Amino acid sequence: MQTIETYDFSGKRALIRVDFNVPLNDKFEITDDTRMRAALPTIKKVIEKGGSPVIMSHLGRPKDGPEDKFSLRHLVKHLSELLDGAKVNIAPDCIGAETLEMANHVKPGEVLILENLRFHAEETKGDEAFAEQLAKNGDCWINDAFGTAHRAHASTAVIAKFFPNDKMFGYVIGSEIESLEKVVQSPQRPLTAIMGGAKVSSKITIIENLLNKVDNLIIGGGMTYTFVKARGGNIGDSICEDDFLETAKTIEKVAKEKGVKLIMASDVLAADDFSNDANTKVLQSNDIPNGWQGLDAGPESIKDMQKVIEESGTILWNGPVGVFEFDNFAKGSRAIADAIVTATKKGAFSLIGGGDSVACINKFGLADEVSYISTAGGALLEYLEGKELPGIAAVRS
Ligand code: AMP
Repeated sequence: MQTIETYDFSGKRALIRVDFNVPLNDKFEITDDTRMRAALPTIKKVIEKGGSPVIMSHLGRPKDGPEDKFSLRHLVKHLSELLDGAKVNIAPDCIGAETLEMANHVKPGEVLILENLRFHAEETKGDEAFAEQLAKNGDCWINDAFGTAHRAHASTAVIAKFFPNDKMFGYVIGSEIESLEKVVQSPQRPLTAIMGGAKVSSKITIIENLLNKVDNLIIGGGMTYTFVKARGGNIGDSICEDDFLETAKTIEKVAKEKGVKLIMASDVLAADDFSNDANTKVLQSNDIPNGWQGLDAGPESIKDMQKVIEESGTILWNGPVGVFEFDNFAKGSRAIADAIVTATKKGAFSLIGGGDSVACINKFGLADEVSYISTAGGALLEYLEGKELPGIAAVRS
């Protein structure tokens, strides 16, 4: 397989699929350029190695053809600034004669952005003829959009067949894959997954897949109460999914069969209202009276969870263990974050991603003290569910 490091870009047009789906305000100003910044190393490397970057992306969800508010021209000036003043041109479309003419004449050190891929319905349909038109704009194809790697769209997967020997991952997608493989394929043991958040239903496929891989599974947050109720406990007014009581029982059974240690809150910080200002008391998780609901892990549970995390070789954290948005119920999630930082300092590999755990680690200002933060959303979740992602398979095949 080709890599950016080994590929000879000199004199070649590198068609780079990036994720420039950035938020814009009503003046079309970029309010968060994280995704653009993330793509810079790949773009700069192509330029440095004598190639001509031809960048393609989607932006927003245009419904029926071109719409000015979704035009990638709103990104041109900022991309030029991020590339130290390099000239950035925008093509009128992502396919067609005029666009091809521009792609064929990108001068050294300059960059061309193609117009929004999703101005053509064929992009999301994975239309092969459209992919072939796109492919004409490059001599090689770099997939650097992990955020759309779970979609078999024309630019993210179907296009690969037009570059049988000239396709590779960019640095964004490369480091996502490398980090995820450190967790899922070849973890330093013990491997601990912390699954939090509100609902079992949104995490169930991931939990089922992880049961085949992890040594320890910490179940936290709102999910806890479905498990506690399934065991016959009283959960008062805590959040619960009654349709998933049988699922919770099955997870406990499978965990036992596979020798996975399941850690769940024994005590909780309960509240008499879903509010930061509610009255609180520490209760056993299986003995919560009506009128009270568990909103955070309790002190004993926090200690149990921290011990397991601090002794881990690899840690995956997906979802807070309490309503961290309320400062009075953020203590459990903060303790998890602290334990992950401690374990990381001792040499563990820690990956934070999916759901609100990224917001959580950012809120605590600890983002720089863990090994890797994935911001990919859907693609990350599908990877953790054990699915093959079309955008990865297309480059590797
Ligand atoms: P997710 O997006 O699945 O990671 O879910 C995150 C959400 O779960 C956050 O908004 C938390 O406030 C919420 N959450 C965590 N613990 C609880 C709980 N005990 N009761 C209700 N919601 C919770």
